Amino acid sequence: MATILVIEDEFPIRELICELLKIEDYDVIEAENGRQGLARAKEALPDLIICDVMMPDLDGYQVLTELQRQAETVTIPFIFLTAKGTTQDIRQGMKLGADDYLIKPFNSDDLLDAVATRLRKRQTASAAWQKARAETPQDLEILLGRSAEAQPQGRASELLSEADQHLLADLETALAENQLTLYYQPQFNLKTLKLTGCEALLRWFHPQRGAVSPGLFIPLAEKSDLILSLGEWVVEQALTQWRRWRDSGLGEVRIAVNLSARQLRQPQFIPWLLRALEAEAIPPQAVEVELTETTLVENVSQSSEQLQALKRRGIWIAIDDFGTGYSSLSYLQQFSFDVLKIDRCFVQNVAQNNTNMILTQAMIDMAHHLNIRVLAEGVETLEEFQFLKQGGCDELQGYLFSPALAPEVFTEKLQNGFSLPQGIV
Ligand SMILES: [Mg+2]
Repeated sequence: MATILVIEDEFPIRELICELLKIEDYDVIEAENGRQGLARAKEALPDLIICDVMMPDLDGYQVLTELQRQAETVTIPFIFLTAKGTTQDIRQGMKLGADDYLIKPFNSDDLLDAVATRLRKRQTASAAWQKARAETPQDLEILLGRSAEAQPQGRASELLSEADQHLLADLETALAENQLTLYYQPQFNLKTLKLTGCEALLRWFHPQRGAVSPGLFIPLAEKSDLILSLGEWVVEQALTQWRRWRDSGLGEVRIAVNLSARQLRQPQFIPWLLRALEAEAIPPQAVEVELTETTLVENVSQSSEQLQALKRRGIWIAIDDFGTGYSSLSYLQQFSFDVLKIDRCFVQNVAQNNTNMILTQAMIDMAHHLNIRVLAEGVETLEEFQFLKQGGCDELQGYLFSPALAPEVFTEKLQNGFSLPQGIV
């Protein structure tokens, strides 16, 4: 029998829905808030999700957005429950990728109908997938990023590079046809808990493949010239967004963009960026440029010159994924960064893991001695938050506070305020 996850913060409604579904013999999993729902969806991979839109902390839109980001959860049918039932509400949910909606109050027939329809459609889609897979097993498996090793050698790498070429061609189309979106992950000051800025993160929703992981397509783009147009697109989008927020009176939210060192080394890039800022009357402090050690490793002196040029104009420079690349310390010596982003691998379990604790504290102290602001990435638990706060870390981003948000969701939060996670005052 199909497994259905019900995410609803109001107990009486949740209980009612679960009872109705159980009578129909469905296996039911309950979640009492968005965060729990997200975790249960990832571990149980249910056949269908019914989720309330209005929930404190992580709302239905954010849950859906997160599910759409992950390859394992992107195809799970999603029905959202809305009390308001305004067209804008419904449109936003559908735009984010929901399959259906129910307006509260609804009767049992409406609910069971919607559930049965979605489950039937899912079955049809999965049958079509099975058929396609049986017809072209190898290519599909490879395209899905699976079992490359299981293929005879030679054939596997051939297929992989073929798949890469397809993906790259699709990415080019995506850029031309608006399949890409920038999501924004908020960053907060650890002491004041106020929003300080956000990181712009590229998302690709492919009409057939679904959400394609940036971890898959960005390294690929970096091997071709596509990374240059992709980088320009990201900067343009981010600047437009910044201007929109300012023009609607929502304040000046610093936006961090990830750049490849190759982009930075293009002689026309910096003049282009400065012209773009000037054209929109955007102050340079509105922009932070994130670079990874890994990308800086080639052609250090040229990169250093370019970074200096940006810095002189007042643009913030951040070193991303700190400590995971090459010789981190020599980079601190050769480039003058404004921000050091501690990679999530150090932040994870920092309150329990002694090594992470020592390394994270050392990075914070070292950066502060060098007058560098420190931001911890991937903060997911209250314990991690508390350790970082005591350790004197300046800023954070991570699921504990918020995942990356679709632009319209981020804008809404700017209007109504970001809610703090439970347990933090
Ligand atoms: Mg980054």
